[in-house]
Amino acid sequence: MTTTDVFIAGGGPAGLAAAIAARRKGLDVIVADGAHYPIEKACGEGLMPGTAQALRELGVEIRKKMATNFMGSSS
Ligand SMILES: Cc1cc2nc3c(=O)[nH]c(=O)nc-3n(C[C@H](O)[C@H](O)[C@H](O)COP(=O)(O)OP(=O)(O)OC[C@H]3O[C@@H](n4cnc5c(N)ncnc54)[C@H](O)[C@@H]3O)c2cc1C
Repeated sequence: MTTTDVFIAGGGPAGLAAAIAARRKGLDVIVADGAHYPIEKACGEGLMPGTAQALRELGVEIRKKMATNFMGSSS
């Protein structure tokens, strides 16, 4: 029997973001995903406008060399 503070069903972007946020608050987290490796990566080309800022708030660094802005966004 395993105990945890937070159990997340689904290791997609929402589940992983929730897991990072919970870990940053010091909570124990288990993420379980029903898919078998290799998990298909749906996301293709870009991030929606608020996503870059949300990722930064989770401590994810987006380096200039890794991405470029489109639609004149400053994020
Ligand atoms: C072709 C394509 C291209 C895309 N390109 C982009 C893009 O460029 N930029 C962008 O921002 N978004 C893009 N998207 C959208 C993006 O992929 C979704 O918005 C995002 O994946 C949603 O994240 P999510 O965590 O809510 O769900 P999902 O990514 O669907 O993750 C849910 C996870 O939960 C698991 N799961 C489901 N049910 C259970 C269960 N009962 N028990 C355990 N695990 C379970 C699944 O296996 C899955 O891994 C694209 C989508 C598609 C289809």
